[in-house]
Amino acid sequence: MASIVPIFVPHAGCPCQCVFCNQRTIAGQKQRMTPAQAREILQHAHAILPAGNIPQAAFYGGSFTAIPVEQQEELLAVTDEFFAAGKISSVRISTRPDAIDEEILSRMKRHHVTVIELGAQSMDDTVLQNARRGHTAANTERAAALIRRAGISLILQTMAGLPGDTRETVRYTAQCIAALKPDGVRIYPVAVLPNTPLYDDWQAGRYQPLDVETAAVWCADMLEIFEREHIPVIRVGLNPTEELDSTVVAGAYHPAMGELAYGELWYRRLCRHIQMTGERTISVAPRELSRAIGHKKRNLLRLREQFGAVHIVAQ
Ligand code: SF4
Repeated sequence: MASIVPIFVPHAGCPCQCVFCNQRTIAGQKQRMTPAQAREILQHAHAILPAGNIPQAAFYGGSFTAIPVEQQEELLAVTDEFFAAGKISSVRISTRPDAIDEEILSRMKRHHVTVIELGAQSMDDTVLQNARRGHTAANTERAAALIRRAGISLILQTMAGLPGDTRETVRYTAQCIAALKPDGVRIYPVAVLPNTPLYDDWQAGRYQPLDVETAAVWCADMLEIFEREHIPVIRVGLNPTEELDSTVVAGAYHPAMGELAYGELWYRRLCRHIQMTGERTISVAPRELSRAIGHKKRNLLRLREQFGAVHIVAQ
């Protein structure tokens, strides 16, 4: 798989302040991305990647298509230059559902954008409103349809544990997202960051964050739905960084969040398997062994408590 070179455009183009977002913390930088910086990032990537690895440039971190068009064009002029020189294969961007229309999409296509990551977050309008997203589920449905029609790959980002979310609203979101047939999804359980409205709500007792264990259960529900619909899940949980490790103050942040969610999914599978077959020694593919056994052998211990002497072995 080709590498992705992230170019963070922090907190740019956002018409509102989503309650959970401190994009500057996530993006790890505080200034506006300039074309010169973007060029430097791409040059550096080109210099260190092995010959033949032609990466994709990715404008992440804000709402790319909502920043002033001149700024988009300045940055895209840089990626155009690298594309023309054969130094990048294509471009991907992340943006908001209400910052997509036909004209924007044809402009993106002219600049070699082949993947758009859309921050859907929830498909429940009350939850979206609580999160102060400034868009509705209908915006996401419309944008997703336009992106697919334009022949651009669609990745939908979802969250679990926003204010007002329940296990049911999160499942509902996953079902609606699956119905949009994206090429992939990301699942981010909510982590509370300082300097956000969510932090203030948490401090004032108005918001109860998800704990890691509950997040794993809710994310496993989402994984089950996406798996059933054959939709690839490309990420569960925020990418752990030293900065996030020292910044997140509450909520469902764990460096192995994905493993915990997949572990929960495996626990359910194994329970069903034992109940249906009565087998106590279960073979799994070697690459799935650690997820089947669970983080810190959690699944094995729970299964043994429930069913007695269970063994999970690599096939
Ligand atoms: S979540 Fe996205 S749209 Fe909302 S404030 Fe952060 S960067 Fe902007």
